[in-house]
Amino acid sequence: MELRDGTIWQGSTAFAALERAEIDGSEAVALRPLVPAVLDRELARELVAAMATIDRRLAIGDELVRAEARRAGWRGPLRRALSPPDRTARGTAGADPCVGAVRDLLPGVEVTRRGPGRRVLRLRADAGDGVGRLHLKAPGRDDLMPEVVAAALDTAFAIRRRYGRMAAGVQRITIDDGAGGFDDHSHAGSTQGGSGTIYLETSLAFADAMSDQRRRTAGRPGISAAVPRPWLAIDGVVAHEIWHNMDATLAVTPGVYVELNRALGAELGVETFEHALRGRDSGAPEPWRAGFRRIVEEVSPYATSNMREATAELFKLWWCATPTSPTSPLVARFGALLDHFYPPS
Ligand SMILES: [Zn+2]
Repeated sequence: MELRDGTIWQGSTAFAALERAEIDGSEAVALRPLVPAVLDRELARELVAAMATIDRRLAIGDELVRAEARRAGWRGPLRRALSPPDRTARGTAGADPCVGAVRDLLPGVEVTRRGPGRRVLRLRADAGDGVGRLHLKAPGRDDLMPEVVAAALDTAFAIRRRYGRMAAGVQRITIDDGAGGFDDHSHAGSTQGGSGTIYLETSLAFADAMSDQRRRTAGRPGISAAVPRPWLAIDGVVAHEIWHNMDATLAVTPGVYVELNRALGAELGVETFEHALRGRDSGAPEPWRAGFRRIVEEVSPYATSNMREATAELFKLWWCATPTSPTSPLVARFGALLDHFYPPS
């Protein structure tokens, strides 16, 4: 691959265009794909190599490209535009580059490695200020993407900061193969009630596993909702899984569940949200069917599984909203209801 006239060429194919972008009032470049391709680790590495002469910041959201760029010396805050490598700087990798990289991306959070050995990575992250600690465990592999780990911790802390005790139940994040509990990798996380641990698939955080996953699915969209950039896929899964811990509070608060069910139903033009969830049953009335279709379109096919998964998918999209990609009416209604029941302090 090579960069010529603002285009990245793969042989004689124009592969991607570099476009001007403005980030925080200063100039940057963004990458626009020109041909469909499965963006695996190898391709990400080639793209980063082709962009070596760029002297402006790079606005790129893709996990694998960001990870390869950071490996090549590009740097910048969590989920933000990356600045070109400083060719004059000396290496500052230190003895534990992965932990150092996670720490650098989480200002104000004390990140330390726990326990001996390289086979398993155990981190303790302490955010202080009443937000508390999180423990993270992952296989000790060198294709771990530090920014993705930092994002998972950042999202978990941010949800705790916003929802306080209601979200304090999750203490541990474990990244492991088969964490989703489904062999087809259709579901990237799981929560075990009461254990205080959320489990995340390795394909969310390890470059080789993410690469394999992308080749396996060949760019087909998953059944659960994708979050818009600059959020990383792991942010959405962490929000979804933490919600499964928070919804216990909701279920035991008298009236809240009933009111939420009715209000979401009203948004969909049916009596309760549960009626819309039953919209695919044979003989379901037309308004239920219409409500069901809106859940599929505005949230995800996975959200139609049941009320628990629906609210977790709604929370994911509400939490990972951005100014440039407005939330759907149903997601916006859910967020307004949450703010009503649990006002920000
Ligand atoms: Zn779920």
